[in-house]
Amino acid sequence: MGIITIYYKYVAIEDPHAIMRWQKNLCIELGLKGRILIAKEGINGTVGGTSDAIAAYKKAMLDHPFFTDLDFKDSPGEADHFSKLRVVIRPEIVHLGLDTTQITARDVGKHLSPEQAHQFISQKNDNTIVLDTRNKSEWKIGRFNGAVNADIEYFRELPAYIDQNIDLFKGKEVLMACTAGVRCERASAYLKSKNVATAVYQIKGGIHRYVEQFPDGEFRGKNYVFDGRISVKINDDIVGTCDRCGISYDEPSNCINAECNRQLVTCPTCREKWLNTCSEKCSQLVHNKLVRIRTKSAKIEVTPTP
Ligand SMILES: [Zn+2]
Ligand SMILES: [Zn+2]
Repeated sequence: MGIITIYYKYVAIEDPHAIMRWQKNLCIELGLKGRILIAKEGINGTVGGTSDAIAAYKKAMLDHPFFTDLDFKDSPGEADHFSKLRVVIRPEIVHLGLDTTQITARDVGKHLSPEQAHQFISQKNDNTIVLDTRNKSEWKIGRFNGAVNADIEYFRELPAYIDQNIDLFKGKEVLMACTAGVRCERASAYLKSKNVATAVYQIKGGIHRYVEQFPDGEFRGKNYVFDGRISVKINDDIVGTCDRCGISYDEPSNCINAECNRQLVTCPTCREKWLNTCSEKCSQLVHNKLVRIRTKSAKIEVTPTP
């Protein structure tokens, strides 16, 4: 088993194409696969490969003047946890759908260390709120005790959630959380721009760094990840339930109808009953052989970058 490393940095990149070419060559040379998003506002990547290849990748990154202080978060994994290498240029390094010159990473919520975040979450009271900024499929299988979630499918829906629930944050100290920290940067800047919360914080390094220090702490269940592993088990709690029958269950899978491929959490009994599909409609299509079926050997498809 090799390593999957995840990193991001908000830094002004004048020529994203040059960075893209460099990253492509570097990853191909090292046999890495994964996903790297580059924008004028920075870089956001997740790549997997052998331990030696990842070490060489990190060295090359840290040698580049833009990325000397990059914080890499590692976990066990490999290149084949990704279907391919994707290096792309985007307007934002996480799609929030907000103008990068208006809501910038320069005006973000204060970073709390994992210890400070632990204290904040374990001492939660009427004046504090923990907002999990991740999507509902991530929240479903693992989350912080006492946190709230926006029940969103895509991160870009978060600003509307904040607007619609602005009273929730009035006069409160808010701690935001996400997988490795990148989403909370500009999300916290957005909440700050509303001037309602008494303080806005985010966890430095996100859930990833928190659970490294507190594997049996306030975060319970599994940490959802955006590669073929789907999730990383943090502790023995099962916080998820089967979408169909409601029993305690937390293994995500995908609808076997290749054209649907919707991600769901369904227990083995329900999966069998519904022919590994997400709905009556898909199970009928599969039953009548009207659609292409995902082959068994195919890796579980991964939802696009949050
Ligand atoms: Zn079930
Ligand atoms: Zn389906």
